[in-house]
Amino acid sequence: MEDPRPFCVGGRWKSSPAISTVISPYTGDQVAAVCFGSADDLREGAAAAEAAFETTRSLPLYTRRKVLYAIARLLEERREELVSTLIAEGGKARKIAEGEVTRAIETITISAEEAGRVDGSIIPLDRTLGGAGHTGYLTRVPAGPLLAITPFNYPLNLACHKIGPAIAIGAPFLLKPATATPLSSLILAEIVLAAGYPPEAVSVIPAPGAVADEIIPDDSFGYLSFTGSPDVGWAIKSRAGRKLVGLELGGNAAVIIFPDCDLEYAASRIVAGGFVNAGQNCVSVQRVIVHRSIYSEMEKKILAHLSMLKVGDPSDPDTDVGPMISIEAASRAEALVQSAVEEGARLLCGGKREGALLYPTVLADVNTCMDLSCQELFAPVILLVPFDEVDEALGIADDSAYGLQAGIFTDSLETVQNAFRRINVGALLVNDIPTFRVDEMPYGGVKASGIGREGPASAIREMTVEKMLIINER
Ligand code: NAD
Repeated sequence: MEDPRPFCVGGRWKSSPAISTVISPYTGDQVAAVCFGSADDLREGAAAAEAAFETTRSLPLYTRRKVLYAIARLLEERREELVSTLIAEGGKARKIAEGEVTRAIETITISAEEAGRVDGSIIPLDRTLGGAGHTGYLTRVPAGPLLAITPFNYPLNLACHKIGPAIAIGAPFLLKPATATPLSSLILAEIVLAAGYPPEAVSVIPAPGAVADEIIPDDSFGYLSFTGSPDVGWAIKSRAGRKLVGLELGGNAAVIIFPDCDLEYAASRIVAGGFVNAGQNCVSVQRVIVHRSIYSEMEKKILAHLSMLKVGDPSDPDTDVGPMISIEAASRAEALVQSAVEEGARLLCGGKREGALLYPTVLADVNTCMDLSCQELFAPVILLVPFDEVDEALGIADDSAYGLQAGIFTDSLETVQNAFRRINVGALLVNDIPTFRVDEMPYGGVKASGIGREGPASAIREMTVEKMLIINER
C-alpha cells in the first residue's frame, strides 16, 4: 500500500497521524490510506480561506472563468483516473461513474458561463422626496469564504456544485468530503490548484463528521453549503452562527402513475430512477403510487424492465446496479424490507443481500404507515402503493416529512395543475420521474429536505449578498 494521501490546507499538502483506509464496498479491499485532518487543521483551513478572500474577490471575471475552464479541461484529461477512483471508493457502477465525471465537467463549465451573469441594477431612489438626487447601484458580492460539506453518493459532482459557483464569484473554499469517499475530492484539489486558483484559497480536508462539527460555528466563512442527511444538516444549521446556510438533504420521493399515461415508458423510467447508483440518490424513486386499475399490469412491466438490469461488479462496464456504500447500509435496508414483509407487504423481487450488494427490490401493497415508507431508504428498493381517487394519490405523495421532487405520469392538464398546487416539493416532474436532474437547473427541497437551491446560477445567487452603492448627485 502506498503512503497515506495528504490533504490540502490553503494550497499546502499536509500529512497527519490520523490515518484512515478507504475500503472498496464491493471487494472489501483497501483502496488507499488517507490522512484525516484534526479540528486544528480545519481551523487552519478556515484561517487560510479568510486570508485569501481579499485576493479571490479581486480576481477579474476573465481570470475566474479561465480557472473554471481549465478545471473542466483537467477533469477531462484525468477522466479515467477519476472514473476508477469513483468505482473504487464508492462502489459506483462504471456507467454511473463515467456519467458523474461528465456531469462534473458540465457543472464547472456552467459555473464559468454563469460567472458572467451576476445580477446588478440601477435603482432611482427619488420615488420619495427624501431620496431626490440620489441613485442606487445594486450589485451582488460574495458572502465570504465557503465551507462545503459533501456526502458519499456523488462525491465529485456534488463537490463541483459547491466549488464551481464559489470560484465563479471569487470565494475561497474549504471542502470537507465524506469519510468513505475522500479520494475524488483530493484529486479535485490538485486540479483546482493546477488550474491556477490562488493556492491559499484552496483547502480540501477529509475528516470525521464529529471533527468537522467543531468548525461549524466558525464565522470566518460567509456561506455553509451542506449536502447530506437531514438529521445532520438541520443540526449543523442550528450551530452555524452568522453565516448563510444552504442545505441539500434527503427525501423519499414519490411518483404517481395514472391510467392515461404510457405505462411502458413509465415503467422503464421508474426502474431507471429507483435503481440508479444502487438507489443511493436523494431523489431516488421510492414510493410508486399506482392507480388500482393498472396496478397488476404495472407490477409486471416494472419487473420486466428490472429483469434487464445487470447487478454486481461495479467495474464491469455492463453493470447497472453495484453495491451500496457499506455492508451496514445494505443490512439496514434489508432489515427494513424484512420487517415490511412481516407487516404484510408483498416481496415481488429482491430482498437478498451479499455483503454490501442489495439486489434490486420491489415491494407491493405497502402501507403508507410502514416504517420504510416514511423514512428515506437510500437503497435499491421501490415500494408500490395502490390508489383509487386522484385526491387520494396526491395526498399520499404529499404525506411526507420530505419535499425534494415528485413525479406524475398523466395526460391530464387538470391533474397536473392539481398536483402542482397540492404536492409540496422543490420540483414536480410531469411524465417523468423525480430522479430527473440536469446540473443547470435550480435544485433543492422544502420541508425536511432542505433550504436553498443549487445549480450554478442559483448557487451563485445564494453565495452572494446584495450590496448598494448610493450616489448623491449634487
Ligand atoms: P451524512 O449526513 O452522513 O454525511 C454528509 C457529510 O456530513 C459527510 O461529509 C459527513 O462526514 C459530514 N458530517 C456528518 N456529521 C457531521 C457533523 N456533525 N458536522 C459536520 N459534518 C458532518 O450523509 P451521507 O450518508 O454521506 O449521504 C447521504 C445523504 O445525503 C442522504 O440523506 C441523501 O439524500 C443526501 N443527499 C442529498 C442530496 C441533495 O442534493 N439534496 C444529494 C446527495 C445526497
